[in-house]
Amino acid sequence: MDSNPGLALQKENLISHLKREGYLKTAKVENAFRLIPREAFLPNDLRLHAYSDHPLPIGSGQTISAPHMVAIMTELLQPAKNDKLLEIGTGSGYQAAILSSLVKKICTIEFYPELASLARKNLSQAGIKNVEIIPGDGSKGLPAQAPFDKIIVTCSIPQEIFASLGKQLKEGGILVAPIGPAYGVQMLTTGRKAKGKLETKEYFGVVFVPLRG
Ligand code: SAH
Repeated sequence: MDSNPGLALQKENLISHLKREGYLKTAKVENAFRLIPREAFLPNDLRLHAYSDHPLPIGSGQTISAPHMVAIMTELLQPAKNDKLLEIGTGSGYQAAILSSLVKKICTIEFYPELASLARKNLSQAGIKNVEIIPGDGSKGLPAQAPFDKIIVTCSIPQEIFASLGKQLKEGGILVAPIGPAYGVQMLTTGRKAKGKLETKEYFGVVFVPLRG
């Protein structure tokens, strides 16, 4: 959909902005942003806004995260080409699409069946084949397919869920999630599994939709 010259230019401007601000740090994540058309993950009437750095509504009261947030979380995950990932909160499928070009396989769980179907359609139209969408409650992770190299959560979760998801990480694995209250400011947090324990690091305040269920 880069056939729209306006959008192609806006996309390059956004990528420059994300680099300048230090959100895009590595060439491979920058390339993923160039490869994946964000407009393909938006409702028709919002496609013209695909390359403004804002969250946008995708239905069921949910939002696609702002590009800078997708860039920050993707860089924090340090995706590597043989990784098996778990995402909780598929939404539009955009974050999964960005990651799909950087890792081997992604399992992603979405609470709302209609969003799971929407993401499946979006990802298939974008020709992406290494993302498995699982409709349902992701608050317990995905024990059947654990352990994962990386886990990303795109809705806010309490500390206890962060800790329990950590059990589904491989040694050396990384977990990225907003921790905090359902409504209010949450803390973007990473956990790295070292000697069986999660070493956590807090970044800054963020606002994500709450975990359902
Ligand atoms: N990653 C998405 C943005 C998702 S917004 C994107 O790129 O578009 C957060 C998503 O988490 C919403 O779609 C919401 O429905 C989902 N969610 C909320 N609670 C959940 C739960 N318990 N299990 C799985 N998904 C959940």
